Amino acid sequence: MQPHLDLAPLPAPVRPDPVRDRWAAPMRLAIAEAALATATGDVPVGALVLGPDGTVLGRGHNEREAIGDPTAHAEVQAIREAARAVGEWRLTGCTMIVTLEPCTMCAGAIVLSRIDRVVYGARDEKAGAAGSLFDVMRDRRLNHRPEVVPDVLAPDCAAQLRAFFDTHR
Ligand SMILES: [Zn+2]
Repeated sequence: MQPHLDLAPLPAPVRPDPVRDRWAAPMRLAIAEAALATATGDVPVGALVLGPDGTVLGRGHNEREAIGDPTAHAEVQAIREAARAVGEWRLTGCTMIVTLEPCTMCAGAIVLSRIDRVVYGARDEKAGAAGSLFDVMRDRRLNHRPEVVPDVLAPDCAAQLRAFFDTHR
């Protein structure tokens, strides 16, 4: 008789994908940036803006609680820092790396900043605006549509969020 094993169901395996996998290293930096948010009780979301050559122009983590600003999402903070670094509002040729699917506000900010690529980790089924609830960045009615690369290190990004909510409930 086989010993009884009480295993939790495993998540579906993520198949290798060269386009997605090349963004794993910067996503690890975004996960490290997200971890900074928890010190102030903020939900751990982290974002980077990479220049066309891959250098980090801006980084940000969710600071809504830290500074009492409802718009202080990781993506907005990273866009502001990158625009200061570049010296103008256009972030043409840049890539946004973010641990959680952007909300409608952040998707709007990404379109307005002319960022050309968005790479995200975990999907946000309740509020995501990059394919889940809305698909703002690929809406053909808008005149700027960045490339969207979802699911990069999604299990790691989701685990970081889950760990936060498990201890802040
Ligand atoms: Zn947002």
